Amino acid sequence: AVVVEQLVKDFSGVTVLHNINLDIEEGEFFALLGPSGCGKTTTMRCIAGFEDPTDGTIKIGEEAMNDIAPNKRNCGMVFQSYALFPHMNVFDNVAYSLNVRRLKNSNPLKKIGVYTRMLNSKIGRYPKDIKNKVNDILEYVELQDHAQKLTSELSGGQQQRVALARALVMEPEVLLMDEPLSNLDQKLRHSMRNTIRQIQQDLKITTIFVTHDQEEAMSMADRVAVMKDGEILQIGTPTDLYSNPQSPFIADFVGKSN
Ligand code: ATP
Repeated sequence: AVVVEQLVKDFSGVTVLHNINLDIEEGEFFALLGPSGCGKTTTMRCIAGFEDPTDGTIKIGEEAMNDIAPNKRNCGMVFQSYALFPHMNVFDNVAYSLNVRRLKNSNPLKKIGVYTRMLNSKIGRYPKDIKNKVNDILEYVELQDHAQKLTSELSGGQQQRVALARALVMEPEVLLMDEPLSNLDQKLRHSMRNTIRQIQQDLKITTIFVTHDQEEAMSMADRVAVMKDGEILQIGTPTDLYSNPQSPFIADFVGKSN
Protein backbone atom coordinates (compact mmCIF):
# COMPACT_ATOMS: atom_id res chain seq x y z
CA ALA A 1 0.00 0.00 0.00
CA VAL A 2 1.03 3.62 -0.51
CA VAL A 3 -0.03 6.23 2.03
CA VAL A 4 0.51 9.95 1.50
CA GLU A 5 -0.29 12.16 4.48
CA GLN A 6 -0.57 15.93 4.36
CA LEU A 7 1.93 16.25 1.56
CA VAL A 8 2.94 19.84 0.85
CA LYS A 9 5.41 20.87 -1.84
CA ASP A 10 6.76 24.37 -2.44
CA PHE A 11 9.01 25.44 -5.30
CA SER A 12 10.82 28.68 -4.45
CA GLY A 13 8.13 29.71 -1.99
CA VAL A 14 5.24 28.85 -4.31
CA THR A 15 3.06 26.05 -3.00
CA VAL A 16 2.16 23.61 -5.77
CA LEU A 17 0.80 20.82 -3.56
CA HIS A 18 -1.49 21.65 -0.64
CA ASN A 19 -2.12 18.88 1.85
CA ILE A 20 -2.39 15.86 -0.42
CA ASN A 21 -3.79 12.76 1.31
CA LEU A 22 -3.92 9.40 -0.43
CA ASP A 23 -4.44 5.88 0.84
CA ILE A 24 -3.77 3.47 -1.99
CA GLU A 25 -4.51 -0.16 -1.29
CA GLU A 26 -2.35 -3.17 -2.00
CA GLY A 27 -2.95 -4.30 -5.57
CA GLU A 28 -5.06 -1.29 -6.47
CA PHE A 29 -4.90 0.53 -9.81
CA PHE A 30 -5.13 4.16 -8.75
CA ALA A 31 -5.27 7.09 -11.17
CA LEU A 32 -4.26 10.68 -10.48
CA LEU A 33 -6.34 12.72 -12.90
CA GLY A 34 -6.35 16.45 -13.52
CA PRO A 35 -5.57 19.25 -15.97
CA SER A 36 -2.05 20.27 -16.92
CA GLY A 37 -0.13 21.90 -14.07
CA CYS A 38 -2.38 20.64 -11.25
CA GLY A 39 0.47 18.78 -9.54
CA LYS A 40 0.10 15.14 -10.64
CA THR A 41 3.71 14.66 -11.68
CA THR A 42 5.02 16.43 -8.58
CA THR A 43 2.94 14.11 -6.36
CA MET A 44 4.35 11.11 -8.21
CA ARG A 45 7.92 12.42 -7.99
CA CYS A 46 7.55 12.87 -4.22
CA ILE A 47 6.37 9.25 -3.92
CA ALA A 48 9.27 8.06 -6.08
CA GLY A 49 11.74 10.15 -4.07
CA PHE A 50 12.83 12.47 -6.89
CA GLU A 51 11.43 15.47 -4.97
CA ASP A 52 11.69 16.11 -1.25
CA PRO A 53 8.35 17.00 0.31
CA THR A 54 8.24 20.41 1.99
CA ASP A 55 5.99 18.80 4.58
CA GLY A 56 4.08 15.56 5.11
CA THR A 57 4.79 11.84 5.08
CA ILE A 58 4.95 9.16 2.43
CA LYS A 59 4.75 5.49 3.32
CA ILE A 60 5.24 2.49 1.08
CA GLY A 61 4.14 -0.67 2.83
CA GLU A 62 4.48 0.21 6.49
CA GLU A 63 7.71 2.10 6.05
CA ALA A 64 8.11 5.90 6.06
CA MET A 65 10.01 6.89 2.92
CA ASN A 66 11.13 10.44 3.69
CA ASP A 67 14.77 9.51 4.26
CA ILE A 68 14.92 6.62 1.80
CA ALA A 69 16.76 7.14 -1.51
CA PRO A 70 14.74 6.67 -4.74
CA ASN A 71 16.55 3.46 -5.72
CA LYS A 72 15.69 1.91 -2.34
CA ARG A 73 11.97 2.62 -2.54
CA ASN A 74 11.12 -0.42 -4.60
CA CYS A 75 9.15 1.61 -7.16
CA GLY A 76 9.17 0.81 -10.87
CA MET A 77 8.69 3.81 -13.12
CA VAL A 78 7.33 4.22 -16.63
CA PHE A 79 7.37 7.66 -18.27
CA GLN A 80 5.70 9.28 -21.24
CA SER A 81 9.06 9.52 -23.00
CA TYR A 82 10.00 5.81 -22.45
CA ALA A 83 13.52 6.83 -21.29
CA LEU A 84 15.18 3.78 -22.87
CA PHE A 85 18.83 3.46 -23.90
CA PRO A 86 18.67 3.91 -27.70
CA HIS A 87 22.10 2.35 -28.34
CA MET A 88 21.20 -0.89 -26.57
CA ASN A 89 18.98 -3.66 -27.79
CA VAL A 90 15.68 -4.57 -26.14
CA PHE A 91 17.16 -7.39 -24.09
CA ASP A 92 19.99 -5.22 -22.72
CA ASN A 93 17.59 -2.42 -21.83
CA VAL A 94 15.47 -4.78 -19.76
CA ALA A 95 18.46 -6.58 -18.23
CA TYR A 96 20.36 -3.41 -17.34
CA SER A 97 19.04 -2.68 -13.85
CA LEU A 98 19.00 -6.34 -12.86
CA ASN A 99 22.64 -6.56 -13.82
CA VAL A 100 23.55 -3.36 -11.98
CA ARG A 101 21.91 -4.80 -8.86
CA ARG A 102 23.73 -8.10 -9.27
CA LEU A 103 27.13 -6.50 -9.75
CA LYS A 104 26.53 -4.11 -6.88
CA ASN A 105 25.59 -6.95 -4.55
CA SER A 106 28.48 -9.12 -5.61
CA ASN A 107 31.20 -6.47 -5.63
CA PRO A 108 32.89 -4.94 -2.62
CA LEU A 109 33.69 -1.73 -4.52
CA LYS A 110 30.71 0.45 -3.86
CA LYS A 111 31.24 3.13 -6.44
CA ILE A 112 28.66 3.30 -9.16
CA GLY A 113 31.20 4.43 -11.81
CA VAL A 114 33.04 1.16 -11.31
CA TYR A 115 29.89 -0.85 -11.82
CA THR A 116 28.92 1.10 -14.88
CA ARG A 117 32.29 0.42 -16.50
CA MET A 118 32.12 -3.24 -15.54
CA LEU A 119 28.60 -3.43 -16.80
CA ASN A 120 29.39 -1.81 -20.12
CA SER A 121 32.14 -4.34 -20.68
CA LYS A 122 29.74 -7.14 -19.86
CA ILE A 123 26.68 -6.20 -21.85
CA GLY A 124 25.43 -9.19 -23.74
CA ARG A 125 26.94 -11.67 -21.26
CA TYR A 126 24.54 -12.49 -18.48
CA PRO A 127 24.20 -15.33 -16.02
CA LYS A 128 21.45 -17.81 -16.74
CA ASP A 129 19.03 -16.57 -14.09
CA ILE A 130 19.05 -13.05 -15.54
CA LYS A 131 18.69 -14.40 -19.08
CA ASN A 132 15.69 -16.49 -18.06
CA LYS A 133 14.04 -13.70 -16.17
CA VAL A 134 14.43 -11.20 -19.00
CA ASN A 135 13.23 -13.72 -21.60
CA ASP A 136 10.17 -14.50 -19.47
CA ILE A 137 9.19 -10.87 -19.12
CA LEU A 138 9.81 -10.15 -22.82
CA GLU A 139 7.53 -13.02 -23.69
CA TYR A 140 4.97 -11.67 -21.28
CA VAL A 141 4.87 -8.28 -23.02
CA GLU A 142 5.02 -10.05 -26.40
CA LEU A 143 8.42 -8.75 -27.42
CA GLN A 144 10.31 -12.04 -27.50
CA ASP A 145 10.82 -11.72 -31.26
CA HIS A 146 12.32 -8.24 -30.89
CA ALA A 147 14.88 -8.92 -28.16
CA GLN A 148 17.89 -8.21 -30.36
CA LYS A 149 16.55 -5.03 -31.99
CA LEU A 150 17.67 -1.58 -30.95
CA THR A 151 14.89 0.22 -29.14
CA SER A 152 15.13 3.03 -31.71
CA GLU A 153 13.94 0.50 -34.32
CA LEU A 154 10.67 -0.14 -32.48
CA SER A 155 7.25 1.49 -32.69
CA GLY A 156 6.03 3.72 -29.85
CA GLY A 157 3.81 0.99 -28.40
CA GLN A 158 6.65 -1.53 -28.52
CA GLN A 159 9.01 0.94 -26.84
CA GLN A 160 6.49 1.50 -24.10
CA ARG A 161 6.22 -2.26 -23.58
CA VAL A 162 10.02 -2.39 -23.24
CA ALA A 163 9.79 0.36 -20.60
CA LEU A 164 7.10 -1.62 -18.81
CA ALA A 165 9.17 -4.82 -18.96
CA ARG A 166 12.19 -2.95 -17.62
CA ALA A 167 10.17 -1.67 -14.66
CA LEU A 168 8.51 -5.03 -13.94
CA VAL A 169 11.63 -7.18 -14.18
CA MET A 170 12.83 -5.62 -10.91
CA GLU A 171 9.67 -6.92 -9.20
CA PRO A 172 8.81 -3.56 -7.65
CA GLU A 173 6.28 -3.23 -4.87
CA VAL A 174 4.71 -0.24 -6.60
CA LEU A 175 4.45 0.67 -10.28
CA LEU A 176 4.40 4.40 -11.02
CA MET A 177 3.30 5.43 -14.50
CA ASP A 178 3.38 9.06 -15.63
CA GLU A 179 1.30 9.66 -18.78
CA PRO A 180 2.64 6.42 -20.28
CA LEU A 181 0.25 6.49 -23.22
CA SER A 182 0.40 10.16 -24.21
CA ASN A 183 2.97 9.70 -26.96
CA LEU A 184 1.01 6.96 -28.70
CA ASP A 185 -1.52 7.36 -31.46
CA GLN A 186 -5.19 6.94 -30.60
CA LYS A 187 -5.57 3.31 -31.69
CA LEU A 188 -2.47 2.16 -29.87
CA ARG A 189 -3.47 4.13 -26.80
CA HIS A 190 -6.66 2.12 -26.56
CA SER A 191 -5.01 -1.26 -26.99
CA MET A 192 -2.25 -0.36 -24.52
CA ARG A 193 -4.89 0.49 -21.92
CA ASN A 194 -5.99 -3.12 -22.04
CA THR A 195 -2.43 -4.44 -22.04
CA ILE A 196 -1.45 -2.41 -18.98
CA ARG A 197 -4.62 -3.20 -17.10
CA GLN A 198 -4.28 -6.91 -17.85
CA ILE A 199 -0.67 -7.02 -16.68
CA GLN A 200 -1.53 -5.04 -13.56
CA GLN A 201 -4.32 -7.47 -12.71
CA ASP A 202 -2.21 -10.55 -13.42
CA LEU A 203 0.59 -9.33 -11.17
CA LYS A 204 -1.70 -7.63 -8.65
CA ILE A 205 0.84 -4.84 -8.46
CA THR A 206 -0.10 -1.62 -6.69
CA THR A 207 -0.14 0.97 -9.48
CA ILE A 208 -0.35 4.75 -9.57
CA PHE A 209 -1.18 6.07 -13.01
CA VAL A 210 -0.93 9.78 -13.83
CA THR A 211 -3.05 11.12 -16.67
CA HIS A 212 -4.86 14.25 -17.85
CA ASP A 213 -7.20 12.06 -19.93
CA GLN A 214 -10.43 11.45 -18.03
CA GLU A 215 -11.55 8.64 -20.30
CA GLU A 216 -8.26 6.82 -19.74
CA ALA A 217 -8.49 7.19 -15.96
CA MET A 218 -12.16 6.28 -15.78
CA SER A 219 -11.83 3.22 -18.01
CA MET A 220 -8.71 1.81 -16.36
CA ALA A 221 -8.62 2.63 -12.66
CA ASP A 222 -10.17 1.04 -9.59
CA ARG A 223 -10.23 4.50 -8.02
CA VAL A 224 -9.47 7.96 -9.32
CA ALA A 225 -8.28 11.07 -7.46
CA VAL A 226 -9.26 14.25 -9.30
CA MET A 227 -6.74 17.04 -8.75
CA LYS A 228 -6.94 20.77 -9.42
CA ASP A 229 -4.52 23.55 -8.49
CA GLY A 230 -2.44 21.33 -6.18
CA GLU A 231 -5.39 19.90 -4.28
CA ILE A 232 -7.40 16.71 -4.42
CA LEU A 233 -11.03 17.53 -5.02
CA GLN A 234 -12.51 14.05 -4.85
CA ILE A 235 -11.44 10.42 -4.67
CA GLY A 236 -13.75 7.64 -5.75
CA THR A 237 -14.44 4.76 -8.07
CA PRO A 238 -15.26 5.82 -11.63
CA THR A 239 -18.92 5.05 -10.87
CA ASP A 240 -18.85 7.25 -7.75
CA LEU A 241 -17.37 10.13 -9.67
CA TYR A 242 -19.91 9.87 -12.48
CA SER A 243 -22.94 9.40 -10.27
CA ASN A 244 -21.99 11.58 -7.33
CA PRO A 245 -19.63 14.36 -8.39
CA GLN A 246 -19.02 16.69 -5.48
CA SER A 247 -18.55 19.84 -7.53
CA PRO A 248 -19.44 21.23 -10.95
CA PHE A 249 -15.73 20.99 -11.87
CA ILE A 250 -15.75 17.23 -11.26
CA ALA A 251 -19.02 16.75 -13.10
CA ASP A 252 -17.66 18.65 -16.06
CA PHE A 253 -14.20 17.10 -15.97
CA VAL A 254 -15.20 13.45 -15.66
CA GLY A 255 -18.20 13.84 -17.91
CA LYS A 256 -16.60 15.40 -20.94
CA SER A 257 -14.81 13.49 -23.65
CA ASN A 258 -11.35 14.63 -24.69
P1 ATP B 1 1.39 18.20 -16.62
O1 ATP B 1 0.32 17.23 -16.95
O2 ATP B 1 1.36 19.42 -17.49
O3 ATP B 1 2.75 17.60 -16.48
P2 ATP B 1 1.05 18.13 -13.74
O4 ATP B 1 -0.34 18.04 -13.22
O5 ATP B 1 1.83 16.88 -13.76
O6 ATP B 1 1.00 18.80 -15.17
P3 ATP B 1 3.24 19.23 -12.28
O7 ATP B 1 4.22 18.92 -13.34
O8 ATP B 1 3.25 18.42 -11.05
O9 ATP B 1 1.77 19.22 -12.88
O10 ATP B 1 3.40 20.76 -11.89
C1 ATP B 1 2.63 21.40 -10.86
C2 ATP B 1 3.09 22.83 -10.72
O11 ATP B 1 4.40 22.84 -10.18
C3 ATP B 1 3.15 23.59 -12.02
O12 ATP B 1 2.70 24.91 -11.78
C4 ATP B 1 4.62 23.58 -12.36
O13 ATP B 1 4.98 24.73 -13.09
C5 ATP B 1 5.27 23.58 -10.99
N1 ATP B 1 6.58 22.91 -10.98
C6 ATP B 1 6.80 21.60 -11.25
N2 ATP B 1 8.09 21.29 -11.13
C7 ATP B 1 8.74 22.44 -10.78
C8 ATP B 1 10.10 22.80 -10.51
N3 ATP B 1 11.08 21.88 -10.56
N4 ATP B 1 10.36 24.07 -10.20
C9 ATP B 1 9.38 25.00 -10.13
N5 ATP B 1 8.09 24.74 -10.36
C10 ATP B 1 7.75 23.48 -10.69
